[in-house]
Amino acid sequence: MQMLVNYTWLQKTKHQLLDIIKRNAQAIMLYGHQGIGKKSLSLWLAKILLCENTNTAANQDKSCNSCSACHLFDIFQHPDLHILDYKDEKFADTNNIGIDNIHNLISGLQQTPHMGKMQAVIIYTIEQLTIAASNALLKTLEEPNNKTIFIIISHNIKKVMPTILSRCISINIPHPDKHQGIEWINQNSHNIPDTIKNLFAHKPLLSRNYDENIYINTIGFLTNPHINELKIDSKKTQQLSQILNIFSYWLFDLLYYIYRGKTKYFSEINLLKKYAASLSIEKIYICWQYLLEAGQYNNFNLNIKLILSMLTHKYQDIFTIND
Ligand SMILES: [Zn+2]
Repeated sequence: MQMLVNYTWLQKTKHQLLDIIKRNAQAIMLYGHQGIGKKSLSLWLAKILLCENTNTAANQDKSCNSCSACHLFDIFQHPDLHILDYKDEKFADTNNIGIDNIHNLISGLQQTPHMGKMQAVIIYTIEQLTIAASNALLKTLEEPNNKTIFIIISHNIKKVMPTILSRCISINIPHPDKHQGIEWINQNSHNIPDTIKNLFAHKPLLSRNYDENIYINTIGFLTNPHINELKIDSKKTQQLSQILNIFSYWLFDLLYYIYRGKTKYFSEINLLKKYAASLSIEKIYICWQYLLEAGQYNNFNLNIKLILSMLTHKYQDIFTIND
């Protein structure tokens, strides 16, 4: 896991969080887009809470990095740090965090922390909890213990149970503006084409998963939908997320091209000129609608092949003339 390093767009949020923990919050929900640094932010906050030398009253926004708590934290061995992360290997089969995982977590929590003043629990992400697990978590949140703080992360707050939300202080985490996002990508990734930088500007951390083959393959399909196929390694959900991202900007650009005669992101759209007379704007919107729905399921363990096949048909349909 990456610690908070240089996320210029999160400076304000960091101060907001320090204010909140001074008020002894028991549960904080960090929500916002994927790829903007919420997980790193949760680690930054947990480290400050567990550090032996921080003074949050003085608005100190750094852990000392030299006490034994900080050293243990850095290697994820701090006994008062509890992380449930659906991306851990143990969840690879289901992608879900189940009730047993929550029960194990709760039984590991102490009345008195092992080392210091607090114990911190990070849950990434709340959407990955099964319903039974969510209910078990809710029970725990309903019996707060002032030595424990829950930092819960959500990519889609609309999916969080209202009863859980009512137990949390929710903070909307901002995404970077275009300039901040591209600057971050330039500092942290290499060999990413400018088109791709634009696509990831508001969710720059996702650019780390950029896969050139996926890009070439997706553009190949989009420019020639009746001949090429959308391909994916069905075990890698991050590939699906990249395809959906390219797809949505592409549809935006296709409409832009129809209305304005030029493109904003992809010069390759010119290859669709031959279809110009038969393009159906209505069907572009239908395809877009499906894309939005598919994006919402992106974090779940759905049948990726089914999503791609639906998307393929809806996109091909844009180029089919009705009688
Ligand atoms: Zn420290």
